[in-house]
Amino acid sequence: MNKRVLRQIGLALALLFGLSAGADAADKIKTVASFSILGDMVRQVGGDRVEVVTLVGADGDAHVFSPTPADAKTMAGAQVFFVNGLGFEGWMVRLEKSSGFKGKTVVASKGVKPLTLSEEEGHHHGEEAKVDNGQEEHTTGEGHDDEAEDVIDPHAWQDLANSKLYVANIRDGLIAADPDGRAVYEANAAKYLDEIAKEEIAVKQALTTLPEQRRKIITSHDAFGYFGAAYGLEIIAPEGVSTESEASAQDVAKIIRQIKKEKIPAVFLENVTDHRLLDQIARETGAKIGGTLYSDALSESDGPAPTYIDMFRHNIATLTAALSS
Ligand code: ZN
Repeated sequence: MNKRVLRQIGLALALLFGLSAGADAADKIKTVASFSILGDMVRQVGGDRVEVVTLVGADGDAHVFSPTPADAKTMAGAQVFFVNGLGFEGWMVRLEKSSGFKGKTVVASKGVKPLTLSEEEGHHHGEEAKVDNGQEEHTTGEGHDDEAEDVIDPHAWQDLANSKLYVANIRDGLIAADPDGRAVYEANAAKYLDEIAKEEIAVKQALTTLPEQRRKIITSHDAFGYFGAAYGLEIIAPEGVSTESEASAQDVAKIIRQIKKEKIPAVFLENVTDHRLLDQIARETGAKIGGTLYSDALSESDGPAPTYIDMFRHNIATLTAALSS
């Protein structure tokens, strides 16, 4: 072989490898998910066609997140931005604007029937609340202006039935951004919906064994309203639906009285919140600490809740172990 032929082969090989290596990253649909639980869902539906960057990572608290310049840069290059909506990401609109994001925002909770929490009474309602596109935080007025305003509970992913809507919205958002991938997204979503449906059955079966008088638990912030409504547990939390507001001394005293009076068996820590308040409540009431529930974020990949479905499995195992005996 002469030098010229060798050079041509070399050039051809370089082009071949260069193109295929470049094609991999360049061809993927660039997406950003606001928090880790949603990031996992987007990965399940998007598969190999999609690159997913998660803004609030494992064990992170999306309520109090503040985006960095690096996050803004990621957003600027993204084609789709997946958010939970329902007021969860209070920082989202500012980030979209300041980053110069030009893609499409998909509100994963679209279609969910939102629960509202009366901050005054401290319990959940299923009454209709108007939510346009997940960015509207206020409920429709119920005519009682003198009372504390109801707030929309954003933690809709804690009901597996709602996650089916999330998956459908993610699938449709990806198809809109990448019509060539329709068949892949539809197949991935169908497979994932099947896994979710199986998990739903497993969750309901596991919880039917719990005695009625042990179906009341304490967590630090009010992240399990949808979970409680779906699976028949009453969840009481000293903090509200956001971790932004701290529990007042009165709130804590009220919960301590309630635990003693109603003999509430266990308090549960959360992976995204500080333990000290619940440690104190457990000490003062004698309630046991039932373990750590994953509320607003997944664990690292080597932890007990690296995916959304793993998170449910871990939470159910933790709850049933603490409450059945
Ligand atoms: Zn939360």
